[in-house]
Amino acid sequence: MTNLKLVALENRKRTIIPVGNVRFGTGFVIIGGPCSVESEEQMIKTAIAVKSAGADMLRGGAFKPRTSPYAFQGLGLQGLKILAKAREATGLPFVTEVLDTRDVSWVAEFADMIQIGARNMQNYSLLKEIGKLRKPVLLKRGMYSTLEEWLNCAEYIMSEGNPNVVLCERGIRSFETYTRNTLDLSAVPAVKEMSHLPVITDPTHGTGKVGLIEPMSLASVAAGSDGLIIEVHRNPAEALSDKDQALTPSQFSGLVRKVRALAKFMKGIR
Ligand code: PEP
Ligand code: MN
Repeated sequence: MTNLKLVALENRKRTIIPVGNVRFGTGFVIIGGPCSVESEEQMIKTAIAVKSAGADMLRGGAFKPRTSPYAFQGLGLQGLKILAKAREATGLPFVTEVLDTRDVSWVAEFADMIQIGARNMQNYSLLKEIGKLRKPVLLKRGMYSTLEEWLNCAEYIMSEGNPNVVLCERGIRSFETYTRNTLDLSAVPAVKEMSHLPVITDPTHGTGKVGLIEPMSLASVAAGSDGLIIEVHRNPAEALSDKDQALTPSQFSGLVRKVRALAKFMKGIR
């Protein structure tokens, strides 16, 4: 892996990436919120619930990559403005996805952290554009990508001058169909052997099943993950995207309590 000039662990110290008051790479960061921003009321009420459950950061998609062109595509700029109001209401920073180089400046103006989603992991023009900023990036693993390909994408961003990259394991495609994806938890300690960058996990997209999210969140803590990103909806049955994998605020609150307890225990024995 001679090409990973900036990403490789080598003799470097582990990197800590600040996003507002949140620090990736120290402590355990929990991000919660809906798959998509659907309305001001939905986003703000969810944000308040997620905060009272003990989350550190908000999520919500304003630009959505959907399998069908006829599915809800997100509220775009209006969604970004709603996310800014949710941040104001809670004091929590937010992460949101950018799909297109033409939207990077909008998204960067509003967001505290920019997500590059699984489908765009190898969109090299997008990676270069994001690399010209200093804005923290959440780089999801592509669903068909090896660890080396993923880390090379982080290298693209960093080689343009942006050192603030957090990696996110969100599951890969396998022959299994029971789960939406196969959450590759071995990626967490493997990436820690290869790179100094923080790595979080997404058990929501990684399993696609409500009942599996809490167990895989706890397993993520045990595997050494630096945090979680979890989808939460006040009424999952009515969610405009990813309704089968959204936790209710009360399920999320139970998850946060257990994850925090395990994270504390793991810190004590590391
Ligand atoms: C999302 O976070 O809603 C999303 C689309 O994630 P991924 O890119 O991992 O599928
Ligand atoms: Mn989603």
